[in-house]
Amino acid sequence: MSYLFNAPQTIIHGAGASRELLPQLTRIGARRVFFVTDPFIESTGLVQALAAPLHQAGLAVAVFSAVQPDPTVQTVLDGLAELTKHDADVVVAVGGGSSIDAAKAIAVLRTNEGPLHKYMGYHKIPNAGLPVIAIPTTAGTGSEATKVTVITDTELNVKMMILDAHLMPAIALVDYELTLSMPPALTAHVGVDTLTHGMEAYVSQKANVLSDPLALSCIELVSKHLQTAWQEPTHREAREGMSLAACLGGLAFTNSSVCLVHGMSRPLGVQFHLPHGLSNAVLLPTVTQFSVSGALERYAMIARAMDIAQVDESDEAASAALVAGLERQNRSLKIPRLRDCVGVDQSTFEQVLEKMAADALASGSPQNNPTVPTAN
Ligand code: NAD
Repeated sequence: MSYLFNAPQTIIHGAGASRELLPQLTRIGARRVFFVTDPFIESTGLVQALAAPLHQAGLAVAVFSAVQPDPTVQTVLDGLAELTKHDADVVVAVGGGSSIDAAKAIAVLRTNEGPLHKYMGYHKIPNAGLPVIAIPTTAGTGSEATKVTVITDTELNVKMMILDAHLMPAIALVDYELTLSMPPALTAHVGVDTLTHGMEAYVSQKANVLSDPLALSCIELVSKHLQTAWQEPTHREAREGMSLAACLGGLAFTNSSVCLVHGMSRPLGVQFHLPHGLSNAVLLPTVTQFSVSGALERYAMIARAMDIAQVDESDEAASAALVAGLERQNRSLKIPRLRDCVGVDQSTFEQVLEKMAADALASGSPQNNPTVPTAN
């Protein structure tokens, strides 16, 4: 048996890592830099602060700051037009998963013919894109260390998952200081997203010897730090732990896979306009309950890694404790229940169920689940 492992060429993790941008740009010989970010991050002055030493070093800089949560094909095309005008040779993403994903798609469309949707799915992008340097400001998606981009096609009303090694950022600068400003709700949503990455990578049918240690470390770190980061936003050790967890979770799932939670959360998010982390969080306990019988030992290991079960407890008892622990965690992080966040009545919900189930299965993620679901 052999395993493939992809990762950024360089990851710099820790306080002040984002200040390594200029040395890294110099190292790769970049001259014309294209920042991709969202309007909120731009309003904080972060991009200007990152760009100042670049200007001084004589690099040409342009900023595209129109990325919205769950970026659309149109946003990517707008960004591509700006990038082409600037004749950039490197893309620097500053923001959450939305900015990093938009940057990845823009970077590969510079060297690959559109439309983007023809690359939906696995390993279809023929040419390497421009190098991407990812600087995450949330601790959640791990996109800085994944070969995935998620872009919404508003015409088909579908969140496209595109996976290809050409989407892996060249460099990730993981600076937890940039996450200190996250409010508690965002911290909770992206934090449970991270936990979901670790868990799904570990129970996936594609789990392997290279992804397992990363997945378990991710799970342990979330269990140790998420509650504190949520309660005390400026707690540096907790923020550092969560930033590391997110990066490790990204590395884990991109070299294993995500499973049913992600398969279901993409259509749920697009249908009801729920943030990605929240739609994962509301599904995690129930999907775990559905799935445990397919990988009892692995779910029991997760419960032990989270200190929810003792080493001498049976796998059955540990897995049951895990489901209860995930429900308890959602309550303590004030994550609403699914029925409270979709905002429609039961019959309206049922009308869209069929499309959501079909879209979930078409993504391929549920087929990696330890218990494989059907549409019914
Ligand atoms: P996001 O990028 O959508 O940002 C959400 C909001 O948080 C935005 O308004 C943003 O301005 C704000 N924000 C970002 N950093 C902040 C900070 N430090 N302080 C205060 N506010 C801040 O959120 P996300 O959860 O990081 O990304 C979600 C997107 O990532 C979804 O589109 C999802 O599908 C995608 N995703 C991608 C991967 C991947 O591997 N490529 C994995 C999981 C999710």
